[in-house]
Amino acid sequence: MIMDKYVVIGNPVMHSKSPEIHNRFAMNTKQKMHFTHLLTPLNNFFFVIRNFFNEGGKGASITLPFKLEAYTLADILTQRASFAGAVNTLKLENGIIYGDNTDGLGLIIDIIQNFGMPIIDKRILLLGAGGAASGVLLPLLQQKPSSLVLCNRSYNKALILFKKFNKYAQLSVCKYSDLDGTYDLIINATSASLENNLPYLLPINIFSKASLAYDMMYDKTPTIFMQYASQHGAIIRDGLGMLVEQAAEAFYFWRGIKPKTTSILTMLRATLT
Ligand code: NDP
Repeated sequence: MIMDKYVVIGNPVMHSKSPEIHNRFAMNTKQKMHFTHLLTPLNNFFFVIRNFFNEGGKGASITLPFKLEAYTLADILTQRASFAGAVNTLKLENGIIYGDNTDGLGLIIDIIQNFGMPIIDKRILLLGAGGAASGVLLPLLQQKPSSLVLCNRSYNKALILFKKFNKYAQLSVCKYSDLDGTYDLIINATSASLENNLPYLLPINIFSKASLAYDMMYDKTPTIFMQYASQHGAIIRDGLGMLVEQAAEAFYFWRGIKPKTTSILTMLRATLT
């Protein structure tokens, strides 16, 4: 049987759950496709992805650190990828490379539908100004929170994002040292948890018993950020649901079918090692 080829491209990449998720989506929706890891040298993204497409590859998930390069590679961007300035999903159709960014919708679906917390009228603190933060900023603002404060260790990077989205009156920007008061939703979009660190200078008074502290990172045990937030009263959630939901959106972008996510999320949670 001929199978359409898909990959997740990154460095490192072998830890990625994307093949597991997409091969299961394919099985459940009866799609003839096969999904694998493609470890890519840091300085060779363009060569590797073009080669993959030239050899018949249909689509790719893009992970760290290639989302910006994928953005420059795409011939046509979806509106959300264009606003994000980063691409996490590529597909080749009729010789044209299309780029999308499904991270933001993945986060929104996980918070609103899976966790059950509406975002409208909430006070949000978004930590980080890298690829993940820029991907989720617009989808979060479109949910009409009462305020969204963007905070990053390198203040200039937060300012660049702020200028891009400052037509949204709810958006403001601050330094970690200026953080004060509690938030309803605190999203850790920094990569600090990957190194088992807390975001730089994170104060404790941002958390309350009603706060949801969401770490985009996931692990078999709560991340250091989740432990810290929980010690200071917050409800916690990791990014596994976001991962599965952004993958479902990517699958839809490639195949035009939206797979069900609940059983895969349960299975992944049970098998996290
Ligand atoms: P980037 O490398 O693009 O950005 C990293 C960000 O983290 C920067 O803003 C950086 O700040 C900040 N940072 C790093 N270390 C610290 C620290 N010790 N204290 C404060 N800030 C810090 O990474 P991404 O944006 O692509 O990814 C961020 C996280 O989101 C990763 O953990 C990734 O795994 C996760 N992610 C999860 C997804 C999911 O589906 N669950 C999807 C996408 C990402 P500075 O600018 O100052 O360097």
